[in-house]
Amino acid sequence: MSQIRYDLFHDRYVIIAPNRAQRAGFLKPQKLVEPEKCPFCEGNEKLTPPEIFALRDGSGANEPGWRTRVVPNLFKAVEIEASLTQERRGSFEWQDGFGAHEVIIDMPDHETGVERWPARALSDWLATVQERVIDLHRDFRLVWLSVFKNHGVHAGATQPHPHTQIIGLPMIPKRELPMLAHQVTYFREHGRPVAETLREEELHSGERIVLKNEHFVAIAPFASAMPFEMWITPLAPLATMITMNSEEREALAELMQKLYARMVAVLGPFDFNLTFEIAPLQKDGTSASMFGDFAQACRFGIRILPRITGIGGFELSSGMHINPVAPETAARKIRNAKL
Ligand SMILES: [Zn+2]
Repeated sequence: MSQIRYDLFHDRYVIIAPNRAQRAGFLKPQKLVEPEKCPFCEGNEKLTPPEIFALRDGSGANEPGWRTRVVPNLFKAVEIEASLTQERRGSFEWQDGFGAHEVIIDMPDHETGVERWPARALSDWLATVQERVIDLHRDFRLVWLSVFKNHGVHAGATQPHPHTQIIGLPMIPKRELPMLAHQVTYFREHGRPVAETLREEELHSGERIVLKNEHFVAIAPFASAMPFEMWITPLAPLATMITMNSEEREALAELMQKLYARMVAVLGPFDFNLTFEIAPLQKDGTSASMFGDFAQACRFGIRILPRITGIGGFELSSGMHINPVAPETAARKIRNAKL
């Protein structure tokens, strides 16, 4: 029988319906159209706008010899040069598309699944994300950051080369605000963050724990919206990745490498979205009343959302997901993966 589970983290419901898994197999990755000349490959640095940041060993800016590169997105959704003025005519409100839109080129190799990234590459990638979050945090106009990876056609990727995107906005998205308010209310009532309550109860039960090291734990959350969804959360009270130290970063890289290897061993190569949980950077008109609590109420985290089932009209109309794989099953399979 299916179950409607309450997701305390996001304050929403999810339908766990394992009997739907048999309806059809999971979506297999489709080959992305290969660009004639990949703008993200080493040697093609001229094909991107000049870099904002890079980790490299000795070579000059915009030259080969880098380990990660950050460039402005060539097809920007928002731009930092735009104005912040709002306009209004009757009920219609708009403003120029102000914001930051950057691409992190995760590594020089064109086609390497995360499970095959060397530990050094994962740690470089995390250090690069951290560096950009720290830098964008300095721009007081940017209130909210979305840091995400789209991997594969089913995840909305258009480039096969491993990359990560950062979009910084001058407001908190409407859907995020009630979720943040819920986390702050929970903190005010219980004196601890939702993320820590969930982590402790998951650790206590053990049923959905997938991997753990001295700093992080990977969990298949009780109310997973996606099949084989993984939530990586710190064991220490780490509110933001801005303050993550190098030892924690290495531990996170190590955990992610092991996790992806296990996921690929079970699922085969799979499309996924990966998102970073980052508390708002600055207060704005809508978050001012709770901004001071974010550091205590929110926790840094990473979510891996495999895109092996489609999203249909029900999900779009209700905001509720139907997940055909019970998280207990997902955790057991990934934990016991034969490598
Ligand atoms: Zn490439």
